[in-house]
Amino acid sequence: MKKVGFTTTIPVEVIIAGNCLPVDLNNIFITSKNPYTYIEKAEEDGLPRNTCSWIKGIYAAVMNKSVDEVIGVVEGDCSNTHALMEIFRDNGISVLSFAYPYGEKEKHGFLKQQIENLMLHFDIDWMMLEKTISKIDTIREKLMLLDKLTVEGYVSGLENHLWLVSSTDFNSDYIKFEKELKQFLDEVKKRKRKDAKIRLGFIGVPTIFSDIYQFVEERDCAVVFNEVQRQFSIPYLEYDYIERFVRYTYPYDITYRLTDIKKEIVNREIDGIIHYVQSFCYRQIQDVIFKKELDIPIITIEGNDPESIDARTKIRLESFIEMLIGKKM
Ligand code: SF4
Repeated sequence: MKKVGFTTTIPVEVIIAGNCLPVDLNNIFITSKNPYTYIEKAEEDGLPRNTCSWIKGIYAAVMNKSVDEVIGVVEGDCSNTHALMEIFRDNGISVLSFAYPYGEKEKHGFLKQQIENLMLHFDIDWMMLEKTISKIDTIREKLMLLDKLTVEGYVSGLENHLWLVSSTDFNSDYIKFEKELKQFLDEVKKRKRKDAKIRLGFIGVPTIFSDIYQFVEERDCAVVFNEVQRQFSIPYLEYDYIERFVRYTYPYDITYRLTDIKKEIVNREIDGIIHYVQSFCYRQIQDVIFKKELDIPIITIEGNDPESIDARTKIRLESFIEMLIGKKM
C-alpha cells in the first residue's frame, strides 16, 4: 500500500478511502527510537539550526524514505512548510498541497474544493468517502468519550495527549487503533476516579518534551484539556464532513481558538493554563494575545529539542503549581 505522509492534520478519511496508508510525519519523528537523529540529519543536510525541530523532524522523516508521497498543508499551519515542499520537489519526491482557508475566505466552499482535489488525486468519489467516514466516525466517537473521561478524572492528561495526537493518522492502521482504543476504554471503566488539587489545561502545539505531563501530574495536578490535540481529533461529529473542518480551530485566526479555549476553561473547571510554545515558531507571538484575553493564570513554557524538561522549567512549573494551590486554598 502506498504510504502518504502529511505535515499536519488533514481530512485523513480521503487517504484511507483511496486505499493508502496515512502517515503523520510529526508522529514518525517523535515516536522514533531516537528523534534526535532526525534533527542531526536535517542540520547535516543544511537546514538552519534556528529552524523549528518539528520541521527538521518532518524533513528527515521524508528524506529517510518513510513515505511514498507527501501532502503539505501550505495554508493554515506553518509557513516553513512552503520551503520544505520545495526541497522535497527538488529531490524528486511526489508532493501535493492542501490548504485551509485563512482570513476572510468563505470556508465551506473553499474546503469542499480542497477535499475534492484530494479525492481526484486518490481516485475516489463522495460515495466511497462517505463509507470510510462512517467507519472512522466510530473511532472519533470513542476519542470524544476518552476526552470526556479525562475531564471526569479517569484518564490522565498524558494518556489523553497520546491518544488524541495519534488520531491524525490512527498510527497508520485505523482497525488496530480502534481495537486498542476499545481495550483501553474497557480498562478505564475499571479504574477509580482520581481527584487532583489543581486542574490544568495545555494550549499550543503539542509539546516536544518527553516528560512534562508526568512532571505536573505527579504534583497533584490533573491535565484535563489538551487544546490542539483535541482539535486534531476533529470532535465535531454532529456536523457534515466539510463543516467539521470549518469548526476545527487550529488552522484559522486565533479568535476561533480563543473562543474554544474560553469555553473549555469553564466547562472543564480549569485552574491554570500551560501555554506550550516551540522555539523558532511564529505561534510564540500569539502568547501576547492569550495572556491578554484569558482570565486565568498562564505559564508559557518553551521547548526546542525532543528531551526531558530542564531544571529551570521544572522550577518554573513547580512555582506555578504552588501559586495555583495557594490561590485555590
Ligand atoms: S511548531 Fe510552529 S514552526 Fe514548528 S512546525 Fe509547528 S507551526 Fe511550524
